[in-house]
Amino acid sequence: MILIGLATLCLAGCCSVEQRETLYQTSTLHALLEGVYDGETTLGMLRSQGDMGIGTFNALDGELAMVDGVVYQIRADGKVYRPGDDERTPFACVTSFAADRTWRLRTGETFEMLRGSVGKLEAGNLPLAFVLEGTFSYVKTRAAPRQSKPYKKLAEALAHQPEFEFHSVHGVMVGFALPEYFAGINVAGYHLHFLTEDRRAGGHVLAFTAEDVRVAVDVTPNVHLALPSDDTFRRANLGGDRTKEIEAVER
Ligand SMILES: [Zn+2]
Repeated sequence: MILIGLATLCLAGCCSVEQRETLYQTSTLHALLEGVYDGETTLGMLRSQGDMGIGTFNALDGELAMVDGVVYQIRADGKVYRPGDDERTPFACVTSFAADRTWRLRTGETFEMLRGSVGKLEAGNLPLAFVLEGTFSYVKTRAAPRQSKPYKKLAEALAHQPEFEFHSVHGVMVGFALPEYFAGINVAGYHLHFLTEDRRAGGHVLAFTAEDVRVAVDVTPNVHLALPSDDTFRRANLGGDRTKEIEAVER
């Protein structure tokens, strides 16, 4: 009931401060690892909870990037689609983005270097939402290939994933940097999805080198975890240490 109330409020254009500072997430990373690829959350519902974010689509059909309230679907064919609000996601996280801090990456700065610099943000142990926008001298991405039932586990599903390389490209990366204690719930550390400026290509970011890139970060101290209530989720084995598995599918 609370969820419906918030959605109605937001559609009316007046999100509460708490909602603006909230990371809204559907399902968990461990459920995705186990092959729970069909969710009930519609993209319309997701858009009522934020204007930027990342995730995937039912049947693991590509990478989701929400930029300025618009949901883009980067599929394994390398093309970008605009799915309707009725389409569904098994795993996504979004927030209403309002930058708390901005800075420019040094020319030549890489994804690895950014990963190492998060400690400087003075927001230790809080979830951070990121928007990186500008010119990248190099970007490498991947896009998850659509699965058919019976679903394989994520590590197997992504064993043969198409990868894409971009040189001297303008675009935007959106995503999150989450503390270690999120492991299992979500990806601990950075998770970014890329979209070119012309919105025709992108994907889950594996590597980048910055040329002229502005970084904006939004600290989101509230977390709203919406768990599925269907049998597939309830029966999935979500325990154990999956650190190596996550390393294999996210990097
Ligand atoms: Zn991703």
